[in-house]
Amino acid sequence: MNKRIVVLGAGESGSGAAVLAKTKGFDVFVSDMSAIKDKYKRLLDSYQIEWEESTHTFDKILNADEIIKSPGIPDKAPVIQSIKEQNIPIISEIEFAGRYTSAKMVCITGSNGKTTTTLLTYHILKNAGLNVGLAGNVGRSLALQVATENFDYYVIELSSFQLDNMYRFKANIAILLNITPDHLDRYEYNMQNYINAKFRIVQNQTENDAFIFWNDDPIISQKLELLHPKARLYPFSETKEKGAKAYTDNNEIFIEASDSPFVMPENDLALRGTHNLFNSLAAGISARLLDIRNEDIRNALSNFKGVEHRLEPVARVRGVEYINDSKATNVNSCWYALQSMNTPVVLILGGKDKGNDYSEIEQLVHDKVKAIICMGVDNTKLHQFFDGKVSYIADTSSMREAVNKAYEIAEKGDTVLLSPCCASFDLFKSYEDRGDQFKECVRSL
Ligand code: ADP
Repeated sequence: MNKRIVVLGAGESGSGAAVLAKTKGFDVFVSDMSAIKDKYKRLLDSYQIEWEESTHTFDKILNADEIIKSPGIPDKAPVIQSIKEQNIPIISEIEFAGRYTSAKMVCITGSNGKTTTTLLTYHILKNAGLNVGLAGNVGRSLALQVATENFDYYVIELSSFQLDNMYRFKANIAILLNITPDHLDRYEYNMQNYINAKFRIVQNQTENDAFIFWNDDPIISQKLELLHPKARLYPFSETKEKGAKAYTDNNEIFIEASDSPFVMPENDLALRGTHNLFNSLAAGISARLLDIRNEDIRNALSNFKGVEHRLEPVARVRGVEYINDSKATNVNSCWYALQSMNTPVVLILGGKDKGNDYSEIEQLVHDKVKAIICMGVDNTKLHQFFDGKVSYIADTSSMREAVNKAYEIAEKGDTVLLSPCCASFDLFKSYEDRGDQFKECVRSL
């Protein structure tokens, strides 16, 4: 009898995994506790894959030989508990897909900067002519591409949730950008569990593989002292310091990851801000390791268009610059946004608080922010922290109101920055919806 694979969750990763399993001859069943989007139903139907939605039929799940779990489903879910009691192995879509391809894998994780670095790396590789796919959290699922395409390389964005159920998968090049607290609700509020999940990106790597990481991240450094990964190490850093293989010196970028060193003026980088320098260095190292020509890397790093909702310039209205950083859903990413500003800032922040500690941005707010516009259903926590620390603080409860208020306050030469530190679900459908509304309101000023 055919091995039975049950896929839990029928979003991008789950439906892709189901298609791959089916094409490999497994008996496949897909179960989703929520409604399945029409496009995924059509995909599953076109491969004659049996599915159910808005329920989990335990009898059809607990007879699986292996379960592929979508990253959005927490371990606490009752169905997962039952599967664990039966000792049925649970893997992620990426783990499953990795079994059926010998493509070279460039994998990117971190608390912040994953999407930007993934798209930038993909941009460099693609423009250099490599036969490369884009997969993971951004783009199409790896599994679907393994089933239907024939790429030699993949650039894959991996969240900690995807890493959680990865065991044998190997990254040929692994990038770990940074680790700051996030998603702790999924890790029993234990930071160490979250750190361990992120470090799964180096598991199975050998001395033929490469591990690229930020040299100055205290959490990464501490963990590396215990772990001693087998891969060749490529730390990057803002300045030329001991061991750094990529850094800046005298306004030039240096990458020393191969025989021919890479040099480029820092000012030519398309992406601005220190955080984006890190992202560019990480992407640049991986490109050098894949033997992409220096000239191609330079071109791609300087003509990259940036990523929507991440420090995205929207418009200049009456001498005021408006910037959409709606993806800043935690305090650390707002810190980097503020740090990259060189004008006085009117900061729009607020939303659904995830247990934020605003002291991380207190100094930058003191130095750069002339007004705070709180935008959320409940702004109490923002007031508790910022009252008395900025000269102006206002309350708003919609994007239109917030943008109008910012327009009123901002003067020529200022920047209005939407960098909310919070999730968007109190007033918006998603961070994309929040960013889109911001842009619409700004453009109609
Ligand atoms: P992720 O995919 O990890 O959420 P994004 O590339 O979508 O990361 O960026 C999310 C937010 O984090 C943006 O607001 C961006 O300005 C900020 N950011 C980007 N890169 C970094 C980095 N290397 N370190 C800290 N913050 C970053």
